Amino acid sequence: MEFALTKEQEMVRKTAREFAEKEIAPIAADIDERAEFPAETVRKLGALGFMGMTVPKEWGGSGMDDISYAIAVEEVSRVCASHGVTMSVCNSLVCWPLMKFGTDAQKEKYLKPVASGKVLGCFGLTEPNAGTDAGSQATVARKEGDKYIINGSKVFITNASKSDVTILFAMTDKSKGTKGISTFVVDSNTPGYSIGSIEKKMGIRASIQTELVFQDMEVPAENLLGKEGQGFKIAMATLDGGRIGIAAQALGIAQAAYEESVKYAKQREQFGKPISSFQAIQWFISDMATEIDAARLLVYKAAFDKWKGRPYTTSAAMAKYFASDVAMKATRNAIQVHGGYGFTKDYAVERFYRDAKITEIYEGTTEVQKMVIAGDLLK
Ligand SMILES: Cc1cc2nc3c(=O)[nH]c(=O)nc-3n(C[C@H](O)[C@H](O)[C@H](O)COP(=O)(O)OP(=O)(O)OC[C@H]3O[C@@H](n4cnc5c(N)ncnc54)[C@H](O)[C@@H]3O)c2cc1C
Repeated sequence: MEFALTKEQEMVRKTAREFAEKEIAPIAADIDERAEFPAETVRKLGALGFMGMTVPKEWGGSGMDDISYAIAVEEVSRVCASHGVTMSVCNSLVCWPLMKFGTDAQKEKYLKPVASGKVLGCFGLTEPNAGTDAGSQATVARKEGDKYIINGSKVFITNASKSDVTILFAMTDKSKGTKGISTFVVDSNTPGYSIGSIEKKMGIRASIQTELVFQDMEVPAENLLGKEGQGFKIAMATLDGGRIGIAAQALGIAQAAYEESVKYAKQREQFGKPISSFQAIQWFISDMATEIDAARLLVYKAAFDKWKGRPYTTSAAMAKYFASDVAMKATRNAIQVHGGYGFTKDYAVERFYRDAKITEIYEGTTEVQKMVIAGDLLK
């Protein structure tokens, strides 16, 4: 077994780290405080080829492997988890289903601009009454001739108000349950498509989540992604890969919390010596380092499975479940290492703690990951 990264993967880490430290770090605290979407640095991430990393070059992407993608999300999230999720949505939730299920015409029109970083995309699955129970879609698409008329709404949609392309799920035949859900690729400027309220959040405040509302929105039948009735399958398959991105985001947040803790523990003195000399602090550091290493192995293993065409539903669920838990623990203990100062906005660990929480919730809560894992083990 070889644990070394390839030259390309090392290069991705270097590029992502340098970009994040040079361009994102100086603004990360400020955009969090003001809940401001960082349009300029997101555009630069796109120009670096980070929005469609595993999409082949012929379709506007960077043609890289899934471990490189996980590393890029990890490195960007180490500095700013809001940038991390913006990237993860475009790569995993928009480019991947377009690449996997799209026609050449759909790839040309919708995949290329997102994968090449020219425009952003979003993924509209969640509704007010369809969260974990994503199969209970109330958004309805009615076929009329060569178009579908779509009515309904979505909530919590990341990037929605900044996106040109929406991967949208709607019920085409309610009598068939989850087999009656279909997927559409929708232009954001379609009449009847509108942005609703913006979510005010405790973490990843510089990413943007909004409601989406569709009123008699006419979508050409050629914008159906995959076949009618395949939507739920497409959503679940897409989220399998998305979980690797979120696990990588959690890993980056945990790594940042660890690094800040080591730095602070060596600087801060109490009782005439650095707090790093106290065993209680040393144990925080060793627990963080050990658990982060374990999380990294799970995240890269899931990415490796996906890259090599092996089944990855379970390894991705394990990676997300474990890495998000590690991020929560590492950020909580990072604040403990910083004492009262960690509770203030003068230190980044306060932001990391708030940002970590979402990794246990979106793209399937921790409870859902455990259901997925158990479902595989007990089948
Ligand atoms: C910041 C943010 C960004 C998001 N981005 C997107 C996006 O881009 N696109 C999108 O479509 N969605 C997005 N979401 C939605 C997100 O995926 C859902 O919030 C998540 O899936 C949980 O759904 P819910 O909030 O309705 O919680 P609920 O489903 O109501 O769950 C509440 C609690 O019940 C538990 N629970 C529910 N069912 C079960 C069960 N069967 N067994 C055990 N426990 C259960 C859950 O684990 C949770 O603890 C986003 C959410 C947030 C907060």
